[in-house]
Amino acid sequence: MSLQKPKVHIIGAGWSGLAAAVRACQLGYEVHLYESASVLGGRAASHFKNQQFLDHGQHILIGAYASTLKLLSLLGGKEDEQFERMGLAILNAQGEGLQLPLDRFGFKALRALLNNKRWGLIDKLCVLWAGIYWLLIPTTRAVLKDMDREDLSTGCDMSVKDFFSPLTQRLMDQLIEPLCLSALNTNISQASARLMLRVLKDAFQAPPRSCEMLIPKVPLGDLMPAPAQLWLERHGAHLHLKKRVSSLTDFDPEDFVVLCTHAREAATLSKTVSKDWSDCAQALEHERICTVYLRSQANPQSQALPHLIALESKELGSAQFAIKNFQFSDQNSVQWAFVTSAAPHLDNAQFEQIAARQAQEQLKLKDIEVLQCVCDKQATFKAKFSLKRPPPHVGKNVWAAGDYVIGPYPSTLEGAVLSGERVIDLIDNELLKGSD
Ligand SMILES: Cc1cc2nc3c(=O)[nH]c(=O)nc-3n(C[C@H](O)[C@H](O)[C@H](O)COP(=O)(O)OP(=O)(O)OC[C@H]3O[C@@H](n4cnc5c(N)ncnc54)[C@H](O)[C@@H]3O)c2cc1C
Repeated sequence: MSLQKPKVHIIGAGWSGLAAAVRACQLGYEVHLYESASVLGGRAASHFKNQQFLDHGQHILIGAYASTLKLLSLLGGKEDEQFERMGLAILNAQGEGLQLPLDRFGFKALRALLNNKRWGLIDKLCVLWAGIYWLLIPTTRAVLKDMDREDLSTGCDMSVKDFFSPLTQRLMDQLIEPLCLSALNTNISQASARLMLRVLKDAFQAPPRSCEMLIPKVPLGDLMPAPAQLWLERHGAHLHLKKRVSSLTDFDPEDFVVLCTHAREAATLSKTVSKDWSDCAQALEHERICTVYLRSQANPQSQALPHLIALESKELGSAQFAIKNFQFSDQNSVQWAFVTSAAPHLDNAQFEQIAARQAQEQLKLKDIEVLQCVCDKQATFKAKFSLKRPPPHVGKNVWAAGDYVIGPYPSTLEGAVLSGERVIDLIDNELLKGSD
C-alpha cells in the first residue's frame, strides 16, 4: 500500500527553498512554495535595473559544489553554456601569483606552487614546515581530526589566523586571507579553521575539477531560479509569489513546514514553536558583502588582465577582488564586479569611489563608469570558530533549511542547496519511520 504523503509548505524561495521544493516533488509530496519577493532566488537572484539584469552581488561557484551542479543539470542546465571554468588562481593585476592548472593536476600543481614569483624560498619551505607542525601540535591535530564534524560547537576548533600561524606573513596576506574572505566572508582572526579546512578538503579532494572556479556567464536568475520555477510548475508544485508568511499558525499542524528564509526571519517565525531554536538562529551574527559594478573601455591592456584579480586592499572598504563579467563585456567595453567581503560600515557612494580608484590605479582601466553598488548587510552569517548553528529540526512538523543551518559549509550556494535537499530527506525518513 502506498503511503499518502502530507503537504509540505516551504517558506522562502532562495536556493535552499528551491532545492527543497524540487526534492519534495521528486519524493511525491504536494509542495507549496511561498516567496515574499516578486522574484525567486533570494540572495542569489537577479534584478532588472538600469536596463539590464544585475545579480544581487557577484557569485562564484567551485567544482566541489556537487549538489548544486547536479541540481542545475537536473533542471536542464548545460555547464559550458552557464559557466566559465577556470583553474584556481589568486593573481594580481600583473598576472603574478598562484595559478593552479586546469588539466592534469599532480606535478603541475606543485610546479605552479614553486613557480609563484610572489613567494620567496622561505615562504615555500614554510608550507612544508607547516604541514609537519599541524600534525605534531595536539590542538592543530585535533582541529584536523574534527574537520568533518559539522557542528562546530562540539569538538576542537580555532581561528584561521591561529591555525595558519606557522606560515609567513606573506603567505597569510596573499593566500590564506583572500581564500578565507572569499570562502567564509569572515576576518581570519574570527573565522573557523575547521570550516575553512573542510572547504579546502572538498576543493582538493578530487583535483583539478573540484577546485576549479566556475564564474557564471548568465544572470544568476537564469542559472537556477527561472529553470527551477519551470520545473516545479511542470511537476505540479504550487508557487505563491509575493506571499509573505507571517505566522505558522495558518498551516494545518499535520502538514510539514520548512523554513527556508534568512536566519533572522526564521528566528521570528519559529518563536512559538521552539524558543531555543529561535534564540540560536537569532544569535548568529552577519557580515556584509559589497559589490560595485562598473564598466571600462575595452582595450588591449584591459583585455590582457586576468579574469579574476586579487587587489591590494590597504584602504578601509577597498575591494579584495575584481572579476570580469562575461555577460556584459564586448569589444567596446568590459564590465567588472569589485567585491569587498566582510565589508565595513560605509555608504554605497564611498564603496563606489574606492572601487573606481582601485580600477584606475591598480588595473589602469580607462573611461570608468560606475553602474551600481549592491551592498547586502546580512550577506552571510559570520563563520566564527566554535560557532553554534541551529539544527534542521525546529519542532513538531517544523523544519528549517538554509545556508546557516548546521552543515559542512559556510554561507554558500552549495550550503543552501545541500541543506534544502537534506531537510526533505530527513522529513521523508521520519515519515517512513512513523509508518512502520
Ligand atoms: C553579495 C553576495 C555574494 C555572495 N557570493 C557568493 C559566492 O560567490 N558563492 C557562494 O556560494 N555564495 C555566495 N553568497 C551566499 C549565497 O548567496 C547564499 O548562501 C544563498 O543564496 C542563501 O540561500 P538561502 O536559500 O539559504 O537564503 P536566501 O537566499 O536568503 O533565501 C530566503 C528567501 O526567503 C524569502 N523570505 C524571507 N522571509 C519570508 C517570509 N516570511 N515569507 C516568504 N518568503 C520569505 C526571501 O525573500 C528569500 O527569497 C553570496 C551572498 C551575497 C549576498
